[in-house]
Amino acid sequence: MKQPAHDVPRPLVRLIASIPTSDGAGVKLRRSIGSARGLYLDPFLMLDEFSSDDAGDYIGGFPAHPHRGFETVTYMLDGHMLHEDNLGNKGHLNSGGVQWMSAGRGIIHAEMPQQESGRMHGFQLWINLPAAEKLNPAAYRDIPAEQIPEVELGGGAKVRVIAGRVVLESTKVAGPINAHELSLATDPHYFDVCIGAGSRVSLPVPAEHNAFVYAYEGEVAIGDAAGKLPAHVAGVLGQGNSILLSAEAAARAIVLAARPLDEPVVQYGPFVMNTHDEIEQALADYRAGRLA
Ligand code: FE
Repeated sequence: MKQPAHDVPRPLVRLIASIPTSDGAGVKLRRSIGSARGLYLDPFLMLDEFSSDDAGDYIGGFPAHPHRGFETVTYMLDGHMLHEDNLGNKGHLNSGGVQWMSAGRGIIHAEMPQQESGRMHGFQLWINLPAAEKLNPAAYRDIPAEQIPEVELGGGAKVRVIAGRVVLESTKVAGPINAHELSLATDPHYFDVCIGAGSRVSLPVPAEHNAFVYAYEGEVAIGDAAGKLPAHVAGVLGQGNSILLSAEAAARAIVLAARPLDEPVVQYGPFVMNTHDEIEQALADYRAGRLA
């Protein structure tokens, strides 16, 4: 693919390995971003990958639990989950679909598998909200697979645009979550990229954004110096205005970029606020049933 002269591919600067862990009622997953205290990439707070063909690894699901102060983004590659919350919202999440939830001031929800066998594979990403939006009412967007545009990039490469924009010489494609229309402070970009054997993909992203890549099938090379990113590791990228990916054997990766908030982060489990007092308030509100 031809790159414009001003294109500056971001280098791979840091690897964050994923740690096998479990959450909810025993769902096995791999956590990279957020696997240790303070291991954030502003505004990204956590990335979990769940992947199993064994129902015993996921069947317990995520029974009722609270959130406050950030967004949860669930991307289902394979499987079927039902989401329900204490406000009466209900939505199905099927293969290829996304649920984008802004927890805002509070939600108590459950995310439960709707299959008793077969493969379940996907991601949950947490994106922080700015102080001014942490106490907004909760909001959801359920995005079925067919509403996520897919762009062919040649050489066996293609990208699904979940959030943000892909702007190439010949193409401009916006995802269903797009800060231009929804005024999202972090202007999140979320791409699912297939890289054919021997092909290269260059995706422009705003220079002021923080960005990382997580390969979930195969090994991906990043940038001009072709730093190697193994599968199931979050690769944090340095300065630049594009993300250049290549692969010797076919690979798949998710690519995330967003504007940093540069605000203090105080996390207590599923509550992410700016101060300890706000965490105390969140706990008090949860105990008193005032979360939502
Ligand atoms: Fe949750």
